[in-house]
Amino acid sequence: MIDLHTHSHESDGSWSPARLVEEALGLGLDALAITDHDTLSGYDGAAGQARTAGLDLVCAISLSTKLPSKDKPQGKNVHVLAYFLDGPPAAEFRNWLVGNLASRRDRNQRLALKLQSIGLDGKLEEAEALGRTLTGRPHFARVLVQKGYVTSIPQAFDQFLDESARAYVPRREPSFADAVGRISAAGGLPVLAHPFRLAKSGPDRFDILIREMIEQGLRGIEAYHSDHTPAVVRRFLGLASAYGLAVTGGSDFHGETKPGVALGKGRDGNLAVPREVLDRLRDSNSR
Ligand code: AMP
Ligand code: ZN
Repeated sequence: MIDLHTHSHESDGSWSPARLVEEALGLGLDALAITDHDTLSGYDGAAGQARTAGLDLVCAISLSTKLPSKDKPQGKNVHVLAYFLDGPPAAEFRNWLVGNLASRRDRNQRLALKLQSIGLDGKLEEAEALGRTLTGRPHFARVLVQKGYVTSIPQAFDQFLDESARAYVPRREPSFADAVGRISAAGGLPVLAHPFRLAKSGPDRFDILIREMIEQGLRGIEAYHSDHTPAVVRRFLGLASAYGLAVTGGSDFHGETKPGVALGKGRDGNLAVPREVLDRLRDSNSR
């Protein structure tokens, strides 16, 4: 069994990269990918430990992108996973990530001001103190919970931080085409994360979107995910084979930040990603 989608405390998960590696070993996972948002520092920090302990740690990242669409002029949110099966990307890609972190900090400053403007005491420094390489909305959500404005992280999103909520401020994000282009140029495999979210727009529309994304350089799809029922998994496996996309899978584990999702096992054990999934990725990558 493997897990190719996890987040550490370097982005918005609650476990350290070291703990992820230890627990993956404890579970007997054959491979793990730390797919932190916008940063490789989780992978960088755990690579040596994993090598010594004999865990196959795949270099990976998760990126939020915007896919232009007619019904949403500002672009649809599309999460892309990137797998660097031949090893970490070179400096050019890493430098691009640093630029993305700067635009995130700019958004965070504006978000803190917006919270203050509606009478909430949520300071940037307080959110940053909860994060490490990266500070995101989940850290602001925790500040709002700690201060008693809301009772849970989902409620913080519903009332204040969600795209449709009162304190939302947009962030400059790379376009889907730019992100997948850069991932491929850096030797990575660009994969559509949790496709079920996008598929909610309806089967016809989703088919159009998938074709658009393939034209723009998408090469894989996360068929196995904690939010996918067995029927949904089958549907995406079929779609992958119809369009010649690589298949990946993972829990989207965030530790205590996302209760109910277990490392390697998903929700109530609904996930068991076979090791052959990674073998196939490597096979097709070396061809
Ligand atoms: P950011 O990248 O800082 O804009 O934050 C996005 C992250 O917030 C996502 O990757 C999710 O982990 C989390 N998130 C987004 N919407 C929600 C929600 N409604 N409830 C809980 N977490 C959310
Ligand atoms: Zn996350």
